[in-house]
Amino acid sequence: MMHMRILYYCHGDKDRKTLHALQQKLPEHHIDAWPDCDNRPEVEAAIVWQPPAEFFDDLINLKHVLSIAAGVDHLLDHPGLPDNVDLVRLTDAGMAQPMAEFVLYGALHAQRRMCELRQAQGAKQWRHDLTPYIADSFRVGLLGAGELGHAAAKRLADNHYPVSCWSRSKKLLPGIQHYAGAAGLDEMLPTVQALVCLLPLTRETHGIINASLLSKLPKNAFIINPGRGDHVDETALLEALNSNHISGALLDVFHEEPLPESHPFWTHPNVIVSPHLAGPTSVSHAVDQIAESLAILSNDGKPAGLVNRQLGY
Ligand code: NAP
Repeated sequence: MMHMRILYYCHGDKDRKTLHALQQKLPEHHIDAWPDCDNRPEVEAAIVWQPPAEFFDDLINLKHVLSIAAGVDHLLDHPGLPDNVDLVRLTDAGMAQPMAEFVLYGALHAQRRMCELRQAQGAKQWRHDLTPYIADSFRVGLLGAGELGHAAAKRLADNHYPVSCWSRSKKLLPGIQHYAGAAGLDEMLPTVQALVCLLPLTRETHGIINASLLSKLPKNAFIINPGRGDHVDETALLEALNSNHISGALLDVFHEEPLPESHPFWTHPNVIVSPHLAGPTSVSHAVDQIAESLAILSNDGKPAGLVNRQLGY
């Protein structure tokens, strides 16, 4: 592979570890850690997670931007991202299995009626009437059937939950009820007891979990959101929780992260707050995938995870 100059956006201890792993994996390339780079016009590739506003300044020969994350919403919104560069995201890279666990945990929590049991415990009430719902008739619906949605759907189905998925394009997924398009979403929502969001954040999916969508779910449905905070209208979700239309929510992502101390989610009895850890990036998997993507890109190929900038994912 041709020698390439690469700029890495690095902050914090974990990112130093990633930088070190990248330098070990790609000894043929020169990798600078931003802001230390003495020849920015020579940089051809950038490896980043949430780079600062001035990151792309003077990178006049930049060809490839590789995100150390599955979502690229923050990069597509970056005012400095040049129009003509390839943008590549991580696909799975060790995230799919922990993400599937997170979703399975949420489904178990809802199906075993843990929100109600916790409240009963708070009041020292022996609620023998709170019989769990039966797993094989507790349908879980997923918004998004990509790398992570598909892995979560399989994990749920392996645990006897009936599963439905909704995505942009039609799919044939063995054992899973599939829906597409606006009409498909309306058809799916009333049939699911728990709804999971594993969509990318795009113009079309921003605020998708709003009052209208929540009203189409059956009473007592449970929300699991490990997608992005901006998928959810947080005010509408709180109203649906407070009116007992929605029984509870397991949330990993928020409009503002870290979640501000004054946010009502922290103290809501039926909300579980998780600090954006549903599908953590595995450094070794991420570095392997970035190395493979760079090799494909430098041969003018199209790596897995090449983002369609029109669609926004
Ligand atoms: P992906 O492989 O790109 O899958 C995205 C899925 O969403 C696809 O099935 C796609 O449909 C569907 N979709 C996109 N736009 C849609 C629309 N307008 N209407 C209906 N369906 C639509 O993405 P992924 O790797 O599974 O990741 C999903 C998201 O998870 C990421 O973008 C990120 O926001 C989030 N994430 C969170 C964490 C965490 O720790 N909390 C970690 C990793 C990722 P098609 O199949 O038809 O294209």
